[in-house]
Amino acid sequence: RAKGAGGSWFELYDEGLGNAASQRLTMETALHKALERDEMELHYQPQFDCDSGKLVGFEALLRWRHPERGLLAPDAFLGIAEETGLIVPIGDWVLHTACAQAQKWRHEHPGHRMMAVNLSGRQFQHTDLGAQVSAALQQSGLPHFCLELEITETVVMQNLEASIAIMHALAELGVQFSIDDFGTGHSSLAYLKKLPIHALKIDRTFVRDLATDQDDAAIVGAIIAMANKLGLRVIAEGIEDRAQYNLLRQYKGIVGQGYLLGRPVPAEAAAKLIAEGKPRAVAA
Ligand code: C2E
Ligand code: MG
Ligand code: MG
Ligand code: MG
Repeated sequence: RAKGAGGSWFELYDEGLGNAASQRLTMETALHKALERDEMELHYQPQFDCDSGKLVGFEALLRWRHPERGLLAPDAFLGIAEETGLIVPIGDWVLHTACAQAQKWRHEHPGHRMMAVNLSGRQFQHTDLGAQVSAALQQSGLPHFCLELEITETVVMQNLEASIAIMHALAELGVQFSIDDFGTGHSSLAYLKKLPIHALKIDRTFVRDLATDQDDAAIVGAIIAMANKLGLRVIAEGIEDRAQYNLLRQYKGIVGQGYLLGRPVPAEAAAKLIAEGKPRAVAA
């Protein structure tokens, strides 16, 4: 303990900083070893056609089974993974694992389903992204048109030149692209014309108050109208209750994703959903 008042301030300050810094370093060290120790997992959240209730795909969501802290969601470690560049090997693992899983499910239960994979900005700066995606598709045997890569407006804008080149090359092979968290980024809509985009994912902050907030209802309606005119598919994220779902179903051809329809689950549970083949939540 420090003796003087000033000393005590400094010591507390140092201690606080030291704790945060050492905690971060501990996380970083652990994250470096997480892949080789096989601690990364993908959970899969189902996506359903809102008209028919049919399962149309999954979004792969990264989880870290931390030896001491248990199952961690991306919020807890994605920042460190980005800053350290570890997101590049981790993202590569995600691509390979998701593609292999999707192809395995295709063998077990033939039918067309998409596998959506999130990409981060760091992965776009990494020039091998195109090669990574191609390798994941080739090694798994998954048809290109079954893979949907999710990017945010921010990621596209930060890496516009690289994004244009990589996306066009992959899109030519049949890979699909969706804009994640659509409507939350700060960008003009001009990029929608420049880039090969196939779907918009309406951010869940617009879906949340859809039933009670006129503005959100107007925004959702406008996004869907625009997407329809541009020939883009629409995926609504974060559907948690019936009221939201019923409002979204008034539009045709929407794909829904959210806790009401299905939470992200490990591969085995996702496989059961496919096997059941049960339509979800169609009745109003
Ligand atoms: P996202 O891509 O927008 O994914 C949707 C997030 O919303 C997921 O959180 C999902 O679990 C959650 N969610 C789904 N339905 C609902 C709902 O009805 N209500 C609420 N409140 N939340 C819902 P998660 O899994 O924690 O992932 C957070 C973010 O981390 C993702 O947001 C994505 O940006 C990022 N992420 C996840 N996996 C990966 C990955 O493999 N690579 C990269 N680069 N980023 C990833
Ligand atoms: Mg996503
Ligand atoms: Mg999203
Ligand atoms: Mg997000």
